[in-house]
Amino acid sequence: MPVKILIRYGEIALKGKNRGQFEKQLHRNLKAAVRDYSGEVIKLYGRFMVTGPGENLEILLERLCKVFGVVSISSVRETELDLDQIKDLAAGIVGSLPSGHNTFKIETRRSNKNFPYSSPEINQLLGSHLQELFPDLIVNLKQPSFKLSVEIGFDQAFLYLDRLAGPGGLPVGTTGRSLLMLSGGIDSPVAGWLSMKRGLSVEALHFHSFPFTSKHSQEKVRELCRKLAAYGGKIPLHMISVTAIQKELRAKCPEELSIILLRRMMFRLADLISKQRGLQALITGDSLGQVASQTLESITVITAATEMLVLRPLVGLDKREIIDMAIDIDTYDTSILPYEDCCTVFLPKHPVTKPKLEVIERFEAGLQIEEMLEGASKTLETAIIKSES
Ligand code: ATP
Ligand code: MG
Repeated sequence: MPVKILIRYGEIALKGKNRGQFEKQLHRNLKAAVRDYSGEVIKLYGRFMVTGPGENLEILLERLCKVFGVVSISSVRETELDLDQIKDLAAGIVGSLPSGHNTFKIETRRSNKNFPYSSPEINQLLGSHLQELFPDLIVNLKQPSFKLSVEIGFDQAFLYLDRLAGPGGLPVGTTGRSLLMLSGGIDSPVAGWLSMKRGLSVEALHFHSFPFTSKHSQEKVRELCRKLAAYGGKIPLHMISVTAIQKELRAKCPEELSIILLRRMMFRLADLISKQRGLQALITGDSLGQVASQTLESITVITAATEMLVLRPLVGLDKREIIDMAIDIDTYDTSILPYEDCCTVFLPKHPVTKPKLEVIERFEAGLQIEEMLEGASKTLETAIIKSES
């Protein structure tokens, strides 16, 4: 049987021009989510409708539930705007429920105010019709065993039983373009997800120290991008080797400063890529106080190396909350795979926690920063990563 999936999106914050832009982008993102189905995405009154053949419904629903901007979705049945036809469809739906569904509630939303019955009247008329046909049915408004929802649209009426929650947020692509600094850890994928949730499209940048870090650790980052791509569409993934930079820092700078110096080089490289690609902000998975490079002093000194706006969506979250989110968005199992990160390869025993910018800059004055950046830029490899499901 062909399916029709009704898609609801948040409207409250939308005014004027923003609304049109939001809807256009959401339409594009929904089409991308159903790309390989022979279905269609149609715009209705303040809703979208996905129609298509019924196969793989579960996968389709799962995909649509990952599109930011979507508040909820329902697999619906459709009928003409005619009370008798609505009654017949309702009877068919209730008749095919498994036994045990004896208490019910009807909830009507009338978008089309020209329909001659009000929402309470429709509830009433449909309810008594169903009770005539199924004498065991009892109305229970507080804890019904099923709820039958009716939406009176402009050209048709929709009836449905369930509502699946979408992720909310804003359609990816409506608020700007960003560069996610993606390690293989737990935090940065969550930071990327939260940024996409607020409408940012994301490219990812990963630094590796091959051959000190393995090819597995790069594959892990690609896998994380695949998982994120299920929410945000294709993700360009940039990989840069910082092996030469790390060797140079080890040879010329005190060990306890190496992380700060490396991080500053990373931000300079991120800055270059953002400018080349017209990206407007950097995203990191920093949160406060977890490690030496995440004190306010360290963050200040590290970020002084870039002019870009740096967003840190995790700053208000506890580790437990970040882990729960990582589990929810399905990046956790990949993140905890035990492959080393470039920052752990030459990890100092006692990293500074309160670096001073003058001190750092003094050491940098003795380095060939421009050449180091140029050398690292030459290792850049970019791949477009798609979701696998
Ligand atoms: P994560 O779990 O994301 O690795 P973390 O808690 O381990 O974060 P750090 O290792 O200090 O913290 O990294 C802080 C942030 O710096 C990361 O969230 C990420 O945005 C960026 N970062 C660290 N290492 C890399 C890397 N190898 N490539 C790209 N970005 C990185
Ligand atoms: Mg890390």
